Amino acid sequence: QKPFDPKKRTVVVLGSGWGAVSFLKSINTDDYNVMVVSPRNYFLFTPLLPSCTVGTIELRSIMEPIRFITRHKSRNVKFYESECTDIDPESKTISITDVSDVKGAVTNTTIPYDYLVMAIGADNQTFGMAGVREYACFLKEIWDAQKIRTRLMDCVESAGFASQAPEEVDRLLHMVVVGGGPTGVEYAAELHDFLKDDLETWYPELADKFRITLVEALPNVLPMFSSQLIQYTESTFKQNKIDVLTKTMVKEVGDKSIKVMDANKNMVSIPYGLLVWATGNCPRPLTRKLMARIKDSQTSPRGLLVDDYMRVAGAPDMYAIGDVTFSKYAPTAQVATQQGLYLASVFDNLARIEEGKNKKITPFEYSHQGSLAYIGSDKAIADLPFLNGNVSVGGVATYVFWRSVYISNMFSFRNRFLVVGDWMKSKVFGRDVSRE
Ligand code: FAD
Ligand code: NAD
Repeated sequence: QKPFDPKKRTVVVLGSGWGAVSFLKSINTDDYNVMVVSPRNYFLFTPLLPSCTVGTIELRSIMEPIRFITRHKSRNVKFYESECTDIDPESKTISITDVSDVKGAVTNTTIPYDYLVMAIGADNQTFGMAGVREYACFLKEIWDAQKIRTRLMDCVESAGFASQAPEEVDRLLHMVVVGGGPTGVEYAAELHDFLKDDLETWYPELADKFRITLVEALPNVLPMFSSQLIQYTESTFKQNKIDVLTKTMVKEVGDKSIKVMDANKNMVSIPYGLLVWATGNCPRPLTRKLMARIKDSQTSPRGLLVDDYMRVAGAPDMYAIGDVTFSKYAPTAQVATQQGLYLASVFDNLARIEEGKNKKITPFEYSHQGSLAYIGSDKAIADLPFLNGNVSVGGVATYVFWRSVYISNMFSFRNRFLVVGDWMKSKVFGRDVSRE
């Protein structure tokens, strides 16, 4: 690999998720020096994260080191495992901090950039509600899935503890999911499969005590799917004995119960053993800090405002892609990937223009490839664009399609191999019920 060239411009990329990786794969490092800053040194294939909470898939099967991409580039790409804590758009510098457990003598430094690509994703939305961060589990990162898997087995073993009172057994085995978006629905679906396929066999004495409740503030789950698929999901959940409480809003979170306002505006207490919180995204602290610095141009509290070329309003030579932005597009991997690819082509054109070539930079255009979600019992749903319209399908065949789409979208052959192996392993031997 060629070394950094002081005559070339330096592009600093923040993040190692969907947007950053898509950009990194395509950026031509003959034209630029590229540096990546992220607190995690791997890419995470989020669509299969719900499967990891119950052990259908193992976590390492959906992770791939960021160096897997950087080592294949023509010029050396520097990677710093650290968190960006501040951005100064005027001096065009960023501050980074080593936030890992093991640190060297240097833990903070400042890095100058010519171009900055913000791809730091988003934080979990809690609406500032007390108790959420303390008692609930999120489902965004590797450690979230690990925590859910451990807590779930902890609840089951504690419910089986000698002379546990029946109401305590009921509480411990009540798994509550807040948020009926795709994250909450897919998690509830995976949990159902685990209870039916494995836990009821391993713990026959508790088999009739397990309960799953999904709480959603809106009148239905999965608002982004067609009404036909919403109905199909709700009826599949009913068959699978997953209680769906719609028009129900969580108002308070305690260590053993939540308080909700139900459809009739009554406050009801719901005891739980495991609480999973999936109520969407909000900006990360770094994003909020940056927005405060350029507040005249950044007028939305929901994320960075960018123009059609992914340029951050109010910050020269700064671009933003994926969940960190607030735009007309949904915060999905599909959007982040396309934006990363587009931005790499913008950088390519900028380099050609600098060489004196005649190149035009066109605005970003999103091409929707469809929406997919797993809903349990080997069934999935899909809304797919078809001839200017939309096709809605659901069932076991869609699940086969869901699997093949995710496998083909995976990062590497190694990931594909491991995931297919995990699927086969859990079919043949069942999922592992050991508590980590
Ligand atoms: P991310 O992928 O979240 O990456 C952000 C990166 O920034 C991470 O590497 C993080 O470590 C890093 N970072 C954070 N803070 C800093 C900092 N201060 N400095 C430097 N780096 C930082 N979308 C779909 O289209 N289809 C799906 O099936 C799907 N399934 C999903 C399932 C789950 C459980 C979840 C949680 C999401 C799912 N999504 C899906 C949404 C999708 O994962 C996100 O839209 C996507 O990850 C956004 O990509 P991103 O690059 O913007 O952010
Ligand atoms: P979301 O924003 O899609 O859904 C959150 C849900 O929580 C909303 O329906 C909201 O009404 C509900 N909610 C908010 N506050 C509540 C409260 N106090 N009480 C009860 N309900 C409450 O969030 P998500 O599911 O985490 O998804 C985030 C993004 O990631 C979305 O863009 C989604 O499309 C994407 N994603 C996609 C897939 C997929 O394509 N299969 C899977 C997971 C996530």
